[in-house]
Amino acid sequence: MLTLGIETSCDDTGVAVIRNDREVLCEFLSSQIKDHSRFGGVIPEFAARKHLENLLPLVDAALRECDISGHDLDLIAVTRGPGLMGSLIVGVMTARALSQAWNVPLIGVNHLEGHLFAPLVDAEDLEPPFLSLIVSGGHTEIICVHDFGKYELLGQTRDDAAGEAYDKAARILGLKYPGGPEIERLAKTGNPNAFDFPIPLKNTDKIEFSFSGLKTALLWQVKKFDGGNIPVNDLCASFQRAVTESLMAKVNLAVKITGIRKVSASGGVSANGALREALRSDERFRTWLPAKGRCTDNAVMIAMAGANSWERGVRMNDVMPDPSLHSL
Ligand code: AMP
Ligand code: MG
Repeated sequence: MLTLGIETSCDDTGVAVIRNDREVLCEFLSSQIKDHSRFGGVIPEFAARKHLENLLPLVDAALRECDISGHDLDLIAVTRGPGLMGSLIVGVMTARALSQAWNVPLIGVNHLEGHLFAPLVDAEDLEPPFLSLIVSGGHTEIICVHDFGKYELLGQTRDDAAGEAYDKAARILGLKYPGGPEIERLAKTGNPNAFDFPIPLKNTDKIEFSFSGLKTALLWQVKKFDGGNIPVNDLCASFQRAVTESLMAKVNLAVKITGIRKVSASGGVSANGALREALRSDERFRTWLPAKGRCTDNAVMIAMAGANSWERGVRMNDVMPDPSLHSL
């Protein structure tokens, strides 16, 4: 079974072809980071226009690379939400047109279910039930995967997502967008214990996150230097420690509450070295992580989630973009 995956929910245009449930035949990703970084964040209209320019050439390239024609495909899987409306429209409408033209069935994928599949690409031994920490620019949540298609949201952030917190912290420190990789880079030569930032909700018995207070704590700390020399590396390292400890506290709480000792993580923040190390070295559970390049948005995870749904018998007559689609 050949599945074409299409991802355009935010600012990455992704196209991939997989065989059966996880064999990656080819994978293309066109990132718009350079286009948006000069604005300090993603400009939705601009992102949609870039998807329009990039998507069909990437589909062509993918088919050429796999040496197949569109008619050879068995399924097209496209992200239908959540995400930016304009970006989703480009992906979904293109996928609908290709599905009609090639007479290939189409399935819409929840972007979050996509993220949940990212660690599975290289992990044959990760089987449900397991816990999935999704940490991205738009989401921070822990999902219990009872089975594929049977998901339970155990808890999420009250305010900012972890990636959003990294991006806002970077902006406070005058660093470029996206902030996560920059903060990680500078944190490498900083002291994680230089500043004692609050670890949000660390000792509560509820699975939930909050990062807006941490961001404000950073802002006040920066203001204290009053235009003097700001120890950016120490601030980055201390901020990264606080985010990581907060995420780890709730992962451990979820393991304790559910008794499930298998944890996967995905989304842009799961590329963070400190978080990867903390997850991998925690002996209370086993960890599965996507390759660093597949932490952020990509089409392989969308193709995998779509193929898995199709195999389970999910069928969709009318795939439409749904920017506020949430529950899995
Ligand atoms: P996504 O929303 O999954 O595309 O991921 C993008 C988000 O992940 C942005 O908010 C980035 O700042 C964040 N991010 C990417 N790489 C890292 C990293 N190495 N450390 C922390 N955050 C990161
Ligand atoms: Mg994402």
